[in-house]
Amino acid sequence: MNKSVYMDNNATTSLKKEVLDAMIPYYTDIYGNASSKFYAVGREAEQALYKLREKAAKLLGAANVNEIYFTASGCEADNWAIKGVANAYKRKGNHIITSKIEHHAILGACEYLEKHGFEVTYLDVDEYGKVSPEAVEAAIKDNTVLISVMTANNEIGTIEPIKEIAEIAKKHKIVFHTDAVQAIGHMPINVQELGVDMLSLSAHKFHGPKGVGLLYIKNGVRIDNLIHGGGQERGKRAATENLAGIAGLVKALEIAVENLDKNVAVMRDKRDKLIKGIQEKIPYCRLNGPVGEDRLCNNVNFSFQYVEGESILMMLDMHGIAASSGSACASGSLDPSHVLLAIGLPHEIAHGSLRLSVGEDTTDEDVNYVIEVLPPIIQRLRDMSPLYEDFLKGENK
Ligand SMILES: *Cc1c(COP(=O)(O)O)cnc(C)c1O
Repeated sequence: MNKSVYMDNNATTSLKKEVLDAMIPYYTDIYGNASSKFYAVGREAEQALYKLREKAAKLLGAANVNEIYFTASGCEADNWAIKGVANAYKRKGNHIITSKIEHHAILGACEYLEKHGFEVTYLDVDEYGKVSPEAVEAAIKDNTVLISVMTANNEIGTIEPIKEIAEIAKKHKIVFHTDAVQAIGHMPINVQELGVDMLSLSAHKFHGPKGVGLLYIKNGVRIDNLIHGGGQERGKRAATENLAGIAGLVKALEIAVENLDKNVAVMRDKRDKLIKGIQEKIPYCRLNGPVGEDRLCNNVNFSFQYVEGESILMMLDMHGIAASSGSACASGSLDPSHVLLAIGLPHEIAHGSLRLSVGEDTTDEDVNYVIEVLPPIIQRLRDMSPLYEDFLKGENK
């Protein structure tokens, strides 16, 4: 049996054929360096880069082309946003506000800054992973220079009230950044409508290539240069541009935006069928994250009592199913996911978590296969657990 079902689209997505096709000319014909203006193939590259930037600005609803900065990943965009703004505003203040459920790229950058004289408030979230705008406002101090809250959570799919938080930041004249890496392709994103000052995204999360991201920086926001060297990216991030990667990012973004409604409807349908099927067939499970409109259209996250997430993953893999237990970046560490702990799960329940993230190409057949394969896996693992045995004895008294 060689069946293979990919249910880890929050970790990465497949590269679309049309995206690859859009990238190839920049490896073959338009191979010039976009900074080499004295000959045709260089100018061609420069013009292509301008057009791509212009298109990205339009697709994201940015007011100006020069507010779009290409980076080498989502992590890079996040790191730059946090450290770059903190350092640029250091004389105004040294306080940053973020949430406990951010991606490690944000949390790691904040922890780094704490070692260098900054103070960080990590806001609590509610049981569904929601950051409260009131809590953001209450955390603001005279020395607050930056607020960063993600648009949508990569582990439990919570969509955050970004517009409200952006308004609060604006009222207090504080720079507001959002990590929208999981949001692109899953919900409408328009930087001006959201009212954000900075926004990060990463191509490989929406069927683009790996190793290319983007940071939107609204004109007027001060930010330290990330890479010193040449004049690329307005002198803020030196390095010869990854034109093929950028072409891939922009093509993937274009496809994602154009097909958004259709894709969201498909993903919601598969997500809901998965949730329903699992809830019907597996006792003692807990859906982590919100239900309905506030949940990312492609995310499913369950905790199963008395089993280990890693064991579920191994047994799913034997059946050709790719899934995740918490965040891909978190795996490899022994601690349960910081997101699951932040929503109040005890350690042992957080350890038994499974994330299934569907994509626009997920079929009913894929969903049915998972719903058929998963329940006996959970049952088998529970049968091996002495705790489960004790629990059943207690139930049957
Ligand atoms: C994947 C992810 C990132 C990191 O993006 P990379 O391009 O893999 O570095 C950042 N934030 C969130 C929410 C993510 O899901």
